[in-house]
Amino acid sequence: MNSTPYGHLIAIKPGSKSRTLLSGGTILTMDPAVPDLPVGDLLIEGNRIVAVGTDLSSAARDGAAVIVDAAGKILIPGFQDTHRHCWQNQLRRLIPDCDDNSAYLAVTHEWVGFHYRPHDIYVGNLIAALGCIDAGITCCLDFFHNPRTPEHSDAAIAAFRDVGIRGVHASCGVLAGEWDHSWPGDLTRLQSSHFGGADQLLSLRVGVIAADFAGPDITLNEDKVRLARQMGLPLISDGVVGAHSAAKIERLGAAGLLGPDITFIHCLDLSDQAWKLMAEHGVNVSIPTTSDAQIGIWESVPAIQKALDVGIRPSLSVDVEVVLGPDLFTQMRTLLNIQRMMAFNRRYRGDINFPAPLGVKDVLELATVQGAKVNGVLEKTGTLTPGKRADIVAINANDWNTLPLNNAFGTVVSAADSRNVDLVLIDGVLKKWGTELVGYDLRKIRRLVEDSRDYVMSAAKFEHNVLEQKHGLSKRHSRAPTTQGSSHG
Ligand SMILES: [Zn+2]
Repeated sequence: MNSTPYGHLIAIKPGSKSRTLLSGGTILTMDPAVPDLPVGDLLIEGNRIVAVGTDLSSAARDGAAVIVDAAGKILIPGFQDTHRHCWQNQLRRLIPDCDDNSAYLAVTHEWVGFHYRPHDIYVGNLIAALGCIDAGITCCLDFFHNPRTPEHSDAAIAAFRDVGIRGVHASCGVLAGEWDHSWPGDLTRLQSSHFGGADQLLSLRVGVIAADFAGPDITLNEDKVRLARQMGLPLISDGVVGAHSAAKIERLGAAGLLGPDITFIHCLDLSDQAWKLMAEHGVNVSIPTTSDAQIGIWESVPAIQKALDVGIRPSLSVDVEVVLGPDLFTQMRTLLNIQRMMAFNRRYRGDINFPAPLGVKDVLELATVQGAKVNGVLEKTGTLTPGKRADIVAINANDWNTLPLNNAFGTVVSAADSRNVDLVLIDGVLKKWGTELVGYDLRKIRRLVEDSRDYVMSAAKFEHNVLEQKHGLSKRHSRAPTTQGSSHG
């Protein structure tokens, strides 16, 4: 750590009174009560934002503050990923053409997942969390559904803690194969042994699966909602898809059990009644846009318009890196593109009630504010508001893909990518500076990832090569024959 020239910034520790002034940046606060600034300053004291204003240089006049020149940078709240299965991440892009949820399950949960040791869980979560930070995601909900033993859960949590990312450990049982069935009983131990502190970066959540492929012990039902509430924990359900899930939502609604402490992921092919109940009771939604569309999950049309139509502002999520990319830039752009495509298609077809197209600021709000709400951290972060924690990202607007800066929201949402993430602070601690992650032994971590990947592949007898995908395609999969006599180049 001390070898980096930026050691003075690493020294900023939670609770300390050291001051940092981010000076002369374009500031997108995402808080309607705190004006955005084309050029302005942001002052941090310890782990908190203490002021946002046009000129805060007087706060640094005593010479005790670290001044960071933020000219040419766009300051935003860190991105919030509301659902990712981090444990799989030494297998990133192993099955990039995966074409069905069952094909995904067949490779991950019904095959290689059996062979994970706690160490492999740790490594998967470690590289996932570092990938998040590299992409400006300062808070990630890890939907963990491979706790074959309590030690597997401990390892998932330990990795996030070691990385120092803000996060949610959503603990769900195992989907397939032999395991010790310690879940959901182990939730009590997890809560007392890892999440006792009043002020920590990580929190716990009950995870369940709504779809019909989930076994009775991990399925969404009235008992799971009651269990979560007895423990004082929010609940999140993955696989909220189809008539089976819609019927469950309607049952929970009838039982008076829906509420704002519940988040549903995907929300594909649900009934109008289910959507109505979700909106009435303040249920949160996480949309993994690329997962729905690219993998072909149920109806495969991300539920963005369905959510907006009932007044729900959804959050965004990455879901599975075994198929998909790691960042929210991709999610924002795909969501924006799909929502506008559907809206403009209706306009073109003469539908006078076609929905309003989302704009770039809307989408950034989903990726930050709404994500923070779903992750349960909006009190602490999600906007650049004085008093909140310093979870801050700077986007370089002076790179070859971003200059010159003409519209800050457009630059972040429609142009930027992870290489432009120039500064990442989490709880006031420096995590990325320039192109480099700060404070980690990256060479050692690379080796850990490759060794763990090799172990899992070998233990699972999973043959793979980097030029071809052999597994993760559905039985029904077939490509349409080419009709023009041309072949795929
Ligand atoms: Zn998922």
